[in-house]
Amino acid sequence: MNKKKLESEYKKKIKLFTNYNKKYYDDSKPLVTDKEYDDLKNSILILESKYSFLNSENSPSKIIGFKPSKNFRKISHRVSMLSLANAFGKEDLINFEKKILNFLSKKKDFSLSYSAEPKIDGISASLIYKKGEFIIGLSRGDGKEGEDITANLATLQDIPKKIQSKDFPEEIDIRGEVFIQNSDFKNLKEKFANPRNAASGSLRQKNPDDTKKIPLKFIAYTFGFEKGLKTNNQTDFLKNLDNWGFKTNPLNKLVTGVDNLLINYSKIEKDRTKIDFDIDGIVYKINSFELQKRLGNVANSPRWAIAHKFSSNKAISKILNIEIQIGRTGALTPVAKIKPINIGGVIVSNATLHNEDEIDRKDIRIGDLATIERAGDVIPHILSVDKSKRDKKLSKFIFPKKCPSCGSKTIKEFNDITKKEDAVRRCSSEGYDCEKIAIEKLKHFVSKEAFNIEGFGKKIVENFWNLNLIKLPQDIFNLDFKKIENLEGWGRQSMENLKYAINLRKNISLERLIYSLGIRHIGLENAKILSKYFKSFSKFISFSNEVILDDILNIDGIGETQLKSIKKFFDNKVNLNILKQLQKILVVNDTVTKDKNGLLNEKTFMVTGKLNGISRAEVKSLIEENSGTSVSTVTKKLNYLIIGEKPTKKKLDKAKELKISIIDQSQFLKMLNITG
Ligand code: NAD
Repeated sequence: MNKKKLESEYKKKIKLFTNYNKKYYDDSKPLVTDKEYDDLKNSILILESKYSFLNSENSPSKIIGFKPSKNFRKISHRVSMLSLANAFGKEDLINFEKKILNFLSKKKDFSLSYSAEPKIDGISASLIYKKGEFIIGLSRGDGKEGEDITANLATLQDIPKKIQSKDFPEEIDIRGEVFIQNSDFKNLKEKFANPRNAASGSLRQKNPDDTKKIPLKFIAYTFGFEKGLKTNNQTDFLKNLDNWGFKTNPLNKLVTGVDNLLINYSKIEKDRTKIDFDIDGIVYKINSFELQKRLGNVANSPRWAIAHKFSSNKAISKILNIEIQIGRTGALTPVAKIKPINIGGVIVSNATLHNEDEIDRKDIRIGDLATIERAGDVIPHILSVDKSKRDKKLSKFIFPKKCPSCGSKTIKEFNDITKKEDAVRRCSSEGYDCEKIAIEKLKHFVSKEAFNIEGFGKKIVENFWNLNLIKLPQDIFNLDFKKIENLEGWGRQSMENLKYAINLRKNISLERLIYSLGIRHIGLENAKILSKYFKSFSKFISFSNEVILDDILNIDGIGETQLKSIKKFFDNKVNLNILKQLQKILVVNDTVTKDKNGLLNEKTFMVTGKLNGISRAEVKSLIEENSGTSVSTVTKKLNYLIIGEKPTKKKLDKAKELKISIIDQSQFLKMLNITG
């Protein structure tokens, strides 16, 4: 690009930037999202770093905020209120630290401590105190001059009007953020686009009575001018603020080194949605005031601080395809495959579309540009598509009327309770005949709350399925371990571990077994109810009898929906065969409502030391399922002390003294007919 073209491009960007600032800072009505604003700002800074002739007075590298509004008296800050440089990732932080070490002429391994403080997305204010009295409150304005908003700030309960602490400096500007909590913002949603604008708009009202009506909060984090401050680092200063009666951020933390900054960042970013106010990053400040002073400022920001921004939780990307996933119960879930994009620090390439109705309602098509949202731990989803940018050739998405896995008809059930057709379309086979459903059923069978086979994860289920090692639940207990040992990524030890984990689960409660079968509408709670009703596996199996089936309608917690689903399960011959096969392999414990028939009847047990592959909680439930009792002290009444690795010596000695049987894990499991 030639110089003239570059200059004209740059000018255009600066004009846009100035306009965005006016709308955001002065009118509290932003024209664009923060991401768009930050991108524009960044593109200007990049141009400037490449071409030194681009250096406008209105550049983001020179200006701060926006000039004070005419609605308020202007007052100069005695110490400027600066902006902050931004960091977007590890590399930026490493550079930031490197520059500091170079500036201070310190060696690479010099360890720097930072006060890491969540960056509240509100507006900053400077509170001037003289002899402990709040006398003037200013907005940041353009950093040099602020707006006199004393009367408005005085309405905030979080701002102390008089401070009597002996160590409170004779004169000090306390600086912090005015913001609105998300829970309070709910009532102001109609008037403002987001909490930050609500705080800004409310704080800069002409009439303080209008400000008073809004529940504004204030969190303090720094100071400007001071006379008589006796603190030499930021963390101590934050503690002082607390003692003087200011609110500070409970998530502030002293952190050393870039790696730890990143750990803290990830943790806070993950928990971000749980906090009742918006934060848009974390500010890192060199903790030592002496070093801060040596480092000083660049044009509009301190050299000793940086804001590590969170990426926005929304992004726009192209829908490359719409795939249909089939769940354990046959539900067809559409998933958009999108052009990979970074949202909130995570690369997203899939977004859920929920169901057929959602696609219809939002008219989502393959090839569309879509806004994708990723909030907290929720699966990314598509908010909307941009129809104005749609290629005319894109056709409407037709939801498959046949299961993409097994070709069975797909159906939408009629819900008797809501008297409406379900939004979810399902594969009508709903069993092991459909490959995708079968794989999901097996994943469920080995999962934590079901058989809980340690080390048997989803990937292994898929892998073993593809290798024809497992097709039905009973195959899990007849695995060819020799073959597994020789598979890529496996070896003797990992094979032995898996074998051990599988054998351990051959003894199982009826309740878990029923849950593991993955009968639709029979979750943990219903499995428990049914196990109490049937008591034994053999009774459960002979259950296809219609009369008994109808009888279970009398059980509290089981309704028509569950009954229908159980009937459907027992109507399926494959399911009946699975049950018969499992009966041959497993020791299914009867459901004991404390009856006395278990293998460990009238025996008491206690565990000391670490066991191998089985938790204390599980041992306890095994004992109870088999009519035994677990106790927590060694007394004469104890029958067996089960010892694991590093048992407590005191307990062992006492057991020996009382002549109590001392057994190890495998002896205990043998008592239950489980071989390791
Ligand atoms: P900045 O990014 O330069 O950061 C400085 C500000 O951080 C301080 O003034 C203070 O308000 C705040 N802060 C919060 N906690 C702090 C702490 N513990 N220590 C120090 N400072 C803390 O501020 P800025 O230049 O006002 O920009 C703020 C944000 O506003 C930017 O992220 C930008 O995306 C957004 N913005 C958006 C638009 C738009 O049109 N959407 C326009 C302008 C600015």
